[in-house]
Amino acid sequence: MDASSRLYAQVWLPVLSDGYTYGVPEQLQGAVVPGSLVRVPLGRRRNVVGLAVSVGTQCPDGGFVVRDIESVVSDHPTVTAQQLELWRWMAGYYLCTCGEVLRAALPTALSDGSYRPAEIICYREGCGDGSSLTAKGRALLEAFRQMGGEDAVPRTRLLPVAGPSVLATLLKHGYLQEEVRTVSRFPKMTGSDTIPGLSGAQQRAFDEVLQGFGQSKPVLLHGITSSGKTVIYMHLIRRCLEQGRRALLLVPEIGLTAQLTERLRAVFGDRLAAYHSKLSDNERAEIYEDLLSGNRFQVILGVRSALFLPLDQVGLVIVDEEQEPSYKQYEPAPRYHARHVALMLAHLRRVPLVLGSATPSMESYYWAGKGKYALVTLTERYGGVQPPEVVCVDREYAFKTNRMRGMYSRTLLQALRDTVDGGGQAILFQNRRGFSSSLECPQCGWMPKCPHCDVPLVYHKRTNQLVCHYCGSKAPVAGTCPKCGPVELQGHGYGTEQVVEQLKELMPDVTVDRMDIDSTQSKHAYDRMIARFASGETQVLVGTQLVAKGFDFERVGLVGVVNADNLLAFPDFRAQERAFQVLTQVAGRAGRRSVRGKVVVQSSQLGPELLQALCGQDTDAFYRTQLEERRMFGYPPYCRLVSVTLRHRDEALLERTVNGLCQRLRERFGDRLLGPQAPGTGRVQDQAVRQFLLKFTLKDDLTGFKAELSQALSAVRSAVPTLRVVVDVDPV
Ligand code: ADP
Ligand code: ZN
Ligand code: ZN
Repeated sequence: MDASSRLYAQVWLPVLSDGYTYGVPEQLQGAVVPGSLVRVPLGRRRNVVGLAVSVGTQCPDGGFVVRDIESVVSDHPTVTAQQLELWRWMAGYYLCTCGEVLRAALPTALSDGSYRPAEIICYREGCGDGSSLTAKGRALLEAFRQMGGEDAVPRTRLLPVAGPSVLATLLKHGYLQEEVRTVSRFPKMTGSDTIPGLSGAQQRAFDEVLQGFGQSKPVLLHGITSSGKTVIYMHLIRRCLEQGRRALLLVPEIGLTAQLTERLRAVFGDRLAAYHSKLSDNERAEIYEDLLSGNRFQVILGVRSALFLPLDQVGLVIVDEEQEPSYKQYEPAPRYHARHVALMLAHLRRVPLVLGSATPSMESYYWAGKGKYALVTLTERYGGVQPPEVVCVDREYAFKTNRMRGMYSRTLLQALRDTVDGGGQAILFQNRRGFSSSLECPQCGWMPKCPHCDVPLVYHKRTNQLVCHYCGSKAPVAGTCPKCGPVELQGHGYGTEQVVEQLKELMPDVTVDRMDIDSTQSKHAYDRMIARFASGETQVLVGTQLVAKGFDFERVGLVGVVNADNLLAFPDFRAQERAFQVLTQVAGRAGRRSVRGKVVVQSSQLGPELLQALCGQDTDAFYRTQLEERRMFGYPPYCRLVSVTLRHRDEALLERTVNGLCQRLRERFGDRLLGPQAPGTGRVQDQAVRQFLLKFTLKDDLTGFKAELSQALSAVRSAVPTLRVVVDVDPV
């Protein structure tokens, strides 16, 4: 072949590097197109599966020998042009390689070419060779005709009628013919296709959502718990299907959405695909293939990785609980945020998108305020169910006036007593993840904060110093509280165990159970605990976040938050936002249809706006004050953050490398660079750790800065290959 017409393919490989060039041998021309999975040699390895992303006659520069593609994995392209477009954007935005995106994106069964559809043996009727049949043979043939009619009948259905030998005889004489069929791994099921009619308020919201679509804006559907967001989603999905498009509904974690899956399944039947990590690899591959070239699955209910599916025919994207931090992938790269990727997907595809939440993220609220998103609100629970009564107890005041018994205020104890005596149940929430490396005043809950960043300072035991994890500034450990004077500041300690212990002393007649990561190690223990609570045997359940989500029991009349201040102890500017979201979720567990629930929140640090918002009075005021603080201290959504973490066994080497890197970066980035500093935990897995943070304004040329950062990091990586570098764009 003449050299000028030789074809080359650019191939992504699931390794820590970007595209590679391979030659396309003559016999594979036409078979290798953008989106084809191919097998290539890599170093000494052979048959490494990669993705061809472009094919052309352009010879790569450089004098190296170009090796040839060995074979193609399947006879049709596996990845569409639209997927490639989104994946390229992800690699660029999240500062990772295309190979890393590829590794996250493809079900293994597809990328190693091992995907086999499920097959079964079936029988069709044949004309037979005229031999006469035994009574058993005739009976089997008759049964066959009744089962199948025109269609083939699976072997598994015929075998119980007569044994294998009778079946074999019918086959031998040609009365039946064998056939191997491809079948789905998902059972057939017809949905009812009926969705509850919309209430007046819901209909208004639905119409407003459509108006938002009409303006080509993402829609933020801000509706309190039980206002009927899910019912509205279902109407939107049906409308989308009627237009001949598929719909994608993203959820944070599938484990917590069994109820949602059931509700959708009842309506859409087996047109619904639930896509999550508990599926087998073959099941995931089947859904992928169907979206690529089939037409069974019309509604995809999925976790964040569903965004990698071939969604070319998607006409609607919904992100439920859009504020959930678990939409962010931490490890490994790409460290993407599903909400952000969904927004980009909808933008590229020009399809409507809905962000749904009872407690929207500050970001979404901000953009709605700016008019970039259309805002739709639902402020009443469906069916006139009353939201719970929220009572706030000032811990500090209760403490000073001698109204605390250990961790319990009189108000909370009385509410517990009333609830239990009335035959009801209670949930006590204690956030155990309280960050013990920050300090607080045991009396009033005050925490030392960074004057520049407004986040709690982190106590570093080794150096006996307080350090800010944003700007790196340090302060000595003071022994005084500005309000209470000289008291010894303490680490956050109390966990669920102490909560249970004290309650048993104070109310010995009450049955108490504890639910947290430690007490629910096995699925069995978890199920038993739920069963005890559901049966009413347990009167008070003490738990962590585990009790906050999707936990609906008819008899729970009271929710108590033992120490809400714990939620603010994180060295994180999002602490207030998270506290509000978690508390709202926990409060939502109180009271069902019949009785109005009660929520008692003990705290001394929650601001009045947060407490008001929690009582359902004025959510806007809370969001406004929070946004104002974010603006003042320069946090998202008023800026963009990129965090860089570096690890190495050799602390001195790490220190030198990071200091050198930061010095170079600072020349260009100036005071956009904060740090470097060692995190409170010091060493992780026997490696020393250093971090720094980059803070960009919304006006900065982010793409340019990111490119420079990438270059600097690659240089450091090649200089110290054993260095581990983690870049997190938009950390949460
Ligand atoms: P959200 O998603 O906002 O929490 P849901 O859609 O789950 O709210 O609605 C809460 C409860 O009210 C559910 O049990 C739901 O079936 C019921 N519900 C909501 N809207 C309607 C409606 N229009 N007709 C009948 N039942 C409804
Ligand atoms: Zn104090
Ligand atoms: Zn600071």
